[in-house]
Amino acid sequence: MDSDKKVNLTQNFRDKIDPKSQFLKKKIPGVKKIVAIASAKGGVGKSTICANLAVASAKRNYSIGLLDADVYGPSIPDLFGAFEKPTADENKKLNPIIRQNLKLISMGFLIEKNSPMVWRGPMVISAIKSFLNNVNWGELDCLFVDLPPGTGDAILTFAQELDVSSSIIITTPQKLSITDANRGIEMFKKTNIPVLGVIENMSFISDQNNNKSYPFGENGADQLCKDQKVDLLDKIRIDETFNLCTNNGVVYESLAEDIKIQFSKISEKIIG
Ligand code: ADP
Repeated sequence: MDSDKKVNLTQNFRDKIDPKSQFLKKKIPGVKKIVAIASAKGGVGKSTICANLAVASAKRNYSIGLLDADVYGPSIPDLFGAFEKPTADENKKLNPIIRQNLKLISMGFLIEKNSPMVWRGPMVISAIKSFLNNVNWGELDCLFVDLPPGTGDAILTFAQELDVSSSIIITTPQKLSITDANRGIEMFKKTNIPVLGVIENMSFISDQNNNKSYPFGENGADQLCKDQKVDLLDKIRIDETFNLCTNNGVVYESLAEDIKIQFSKISEKIIG
């Protein structure tokens, strides 16, 4: 076999296993836009940001759903103080739980509160597929999807099978988080999902005199966005009002006013 043919065969094989060619991306009937919120690392505030963006968007009179696909560590029930089990309709489709004018579905609604998720990849994938196909989302302007951290099986299923309109990456300014966020952006690019931008969370602490300190380093996301040619949507500071919201089980309402405005402005960039 001459070397030209060899090269072609290799390219052919690569094209076949390329994620882009393997799946026809599905839409969810009635859902206008699907926005994936991702972080390559856990603990950076992905679920917190996702929940606040969803509430800020609902407050702007959009019809919003939130799918907590973070099957390993579902946070949405705690954030919204929602622990009831969803009901099902006559076609066995799940009815989302309603909180703060949002339609919510989370694995956390279906498992016992403290039971650990010891699932292998294929089970996670089938759980996510059933979330996509078996929930009564009704008419939605936007479905926010809180993805599990990382770039593993679950997130790939999502990226490959669903017609995701855009993605947002959450990171802290820390080097470790930025390196992983970079991987997350690459994954979305490979699966043909537009990256709307990056939100840098826990960027700084502000004291009463507006002096800033940077416990996790400064400008990590600026460099990332420059290198990857994606937008830096905003920087959210470390603020105790986030904790206040979580303790109350009510998202957004107890946040500092300027942070509420930030979420509202990011929502404008997402939905218009
Ligand atoms: P992830 O989804 O990335 O694992 P979470 O959204 O669960 O992270 O957030 C982890 C913790 O950090 C939560 O206790 C949350 O209240 C807190 N948190 C997130 N963002 C902020 C912030 N900007 N300021 C203060 N606390 C925050």
